[in-house]
Amino acid sequence: MASERQITVGPVPIGGGAPVAVQTMTKTETANLAATMAQILTVAEAGADIVRVAVPREQDAEALKSIVRDSPIPIIADIHFNHTLALKAIEAGAHCVRLNPGNIGGPEKVAEVIALAKQRSTPLRVGVNSGSLPKHLRQLEYDNPVEALVTAAIETVRLMESLDFYDFKVSMKSTSVPNTIASNRLLAERIPYPLHLGVTEAGTKWSGSLKSAVGLGTLLADGIGDTIRISLSTFHAEEEVKVAWEILKALKLRERGPVLIACPTCGRLQFDMDTVVAEVERRLEAYEDPIEVSVLGCAVNGIGEARHADFGITGAKDMGMIYSKGEPLKKVPTDQLVDELFKEIDRYYAAGKTVQRDEVAAADARAWLAANEDATQMTPERLAALEAAAADNDEEADAVLESMLTRAPEGTPASTAVAIDEVASPIAGRRFTR
Ligand code: SF4
Repeated sequence: MASERQITVGPVPIGGGAPVAVQTMTKTETANLAATMAQILTVAEAGADIVRVAVPREQDAEALKSIVRDSPIPIIADIHFNHTLALKAIEAGAHCVRLNPGNIGGPEKVAEVIALAKQRSTPLRVGVNSGSLPKHLRQLEYDNPVEALVTAAIETVRLMESLDFYDFKVSMKSTSVPNTIASNRLLAERIPYPLHLGVTEAGTKWSGSLKSAVGLGTLLADGIGDTIRISLSTFHAEEEVKVAWEILKALKLRERGPVLIACPTCGRLQFDMDTVVAEVERRLEAYEDPIEVSVLGCAVNGIGEARHADFGITGAKDMGMIYSKGEPLKKVPTDQLVDELFKEIDRYYAAGKTVQRDEVAAADARAWLAANEDATQMTPERLAALEAAAADNDEEADAVLESMLTRAPEGTPASTAVAIDEVASPIAGRRFTR
């Protein structure tokens, strides 16, 4: 469940029903002001709501003053082992301090940091890591790592409360995706404070993104988690931000920029779609509106599956078509598809978000589509549509199937047209046996 309590990090609300905040962490030496500020500006541009910087030395704490002053987004100081640095970070104006109360030198030092945090109204992120649980939980960690993590987190929470401090969020970090999911589910039931989610040391851009999407996506879909960080082994912190946004967009938790829909391609593909999709994705980065753009690899499906897209393209060998909301706009040579797509998108914005339609060009495109569409093909999209309809309503599925059979060209053997049959399908049974 979503956290009951809310804190604010700078102007950004965390928890209590606020939008899930996107965080990342700079990879630079914090005291290298030019490099650190350049990275902060880059991640802010990419959509980070908050950024954390490592503060392992005096000079990093010193650098915080100008970083906090110049950053367009709130700064969290990341402290380990040294409570003096935590005090300095608070004094430097950090919008939040991240520390693990178990590793900064004992209860008195924790109390000293909390006293200053209270005085300056600086929130904390307190957390535990699976790799550094307190000694008394080592056996429990061995027997039940999830319970050990949750117990450590709750002990930290109780410590904060015993100091009459409530301005904090909590994180539990584990490299294990199942343990991240299980422990955060348990903790969310037991405490009212905002939760920061992350799969620690998730890995490279590819595997780390997937692990994070599975772990954090599962929790977020349950309504758990108030702020997220994707930990990737790359110097480019903005990549973490992009992945975080894709997860939030996929779950429809937040909107930011265009949504690109692209078919997976199959043996019916008739043009160089890889290049086209990459180019469309690149050019869409310049748009802020949550416009939906679809790329279909062929026209055998018609464009029904992309009828919700604001704009889309589909192609064949030499020609392709641009459409909007399922209606053809114009036919263009394949090598001009992307340019023409963006011309249409720009005309749409120039006209106050109104699609500009030329009826002659649209009729031409419709004719091209009719010539290229093949209503008898059992494509992945049609299979999915049939399965969805079947799940909703058997009669509706029958109607879809009936319409496909009716449209099959004369002479098509019934067994070819009824390819939906599981027994006849090349993937028969596969999806249920993994
Ligand atoms: S049939 Fe579907 S998946 Fe295959 S190329 Fe056409 S649109 Fe893409």
